[in-house]
Amino acid sequence: DRLVTAAADGEDRAVEAALRPRDLDEFIGQERVREQLSLVLQAARHRGATPDHVLLSGPPGLGKTTLSMIIAAEMAAPIRITSGPAIQHAGDLAAVLSSLTEGEILFLDEIHRLSRPAEEMLYMAMEDFRVDVIVGKGPGATAIPLELPPFTLVGATTRAGLLPPPLRDRFGFTGHMEFYAPEELERVIHRSARLLAVEIDPKGAAEISRRSRGTPRIANRLLRRVRDFAQVRHDGLVTEEIAAAALAVYEVDPRGLDRLDRAVLHALLKLFGGGPVGLSTLAVAVGEESETVEEVAEPFLVREGLLARTPRGRIATAAAWQHLGLTPPPQVAG
Ligand code: ADP
Repeated sequence: DRLVTAAADGEDRAVEAALRPRDLDEFIGQERVREQLSLVLQAARHRGATPDHVLLSGPPGLGKTTLSMIIAAEMAAPIRITSGPAIQHAGDLAAVLSSLTEGEILFLDEIHRLSRPAEEMLYMAMEDFRVDVIVGKGPGATAIPLELPPFTLVGATTRAGLLPPPLRDRFGFTGHMEFYAPEELERVIHRSARLLAVEIDPKGAAEISRRSRGTPRIANRLLRRVRDFAQVRHDGLVTEEIAAAALAVYEVDPRGLDRLDRAVLHALLKLFGGGPVGLSTLAVAVGEESETVEEVAEPFLVREGLLARTPRGRIATAAAWQHLGLTPPPQVAG
């Protein structure tokens, strides 16, 4: 239910279709990935071949699904979208693969969550465009080899490091997606505002961008909540003041921290003098599970340089004291 989570919720999915850039020129930021991908696609078009398999790695909400759709659009090819967790058995994958048409793009989100048998089937499909379909069960089972038309797999993962090397090696190109710079997010926000017919001034967009954690999905979501506020309480125009006031209502602070992030920092500073303190103790102090603190709150706090994980426990940095408006003890300030 967090406003600043990078994972998509139902409303995101409904609105995102309308907000997705349709081609590489419309896609904002990620210059390096865009240039590399553009070369891969142009070369493939030039050769009249299907492009090499593409792996996109990076945190959620940065545009991996969008890029896969752009690849399909640029190649004028159909696209099939599925995900590692949606494929339970190797047979499910065989069904998807055997129904692909020539040149089709297969987008496989969270590819690191494929089961081992499915993964092994994918190796052969990627390399030789072939699958073995198992017919029957037990000792009578036979493998029937099936030729596949050439297709392009676009795999997406939040953790490229988790992919087994044989899988990673079968991608011709890996694009590493980075968090967006504030100016890039401002462009995303202006573009989305235009599509949603929201009036916004440059400082309003900058205010939303600063609170969006470098993530277009969050920027688009915050924009929608700010729009509601501007329409209900004001005349609809989003200014810096209105964006700040709206996001204060939703407890998203000027740096993009939400209630949980702040609770973690607050406990670390006020109850434990800035640490070091163990994860489980910290979690109890904020009334959350350890996993929630570790996976939901900490990554962003670490990225922002507000919290550090050390062998002795979690510690707050000088910036954390500053951010909560507290005075650090002399050894931290020093
Ligand atoms: P991922 O697959 O990495 O989780 P998505 O491709 O679903 O992310 O992107 C989430 C939303 O963010 C999309 O609806 C899209 O509108 C927006 N978005 C992502 N990247 C960009 C970008 N570079 N320019 C404009 N909008 C973007």
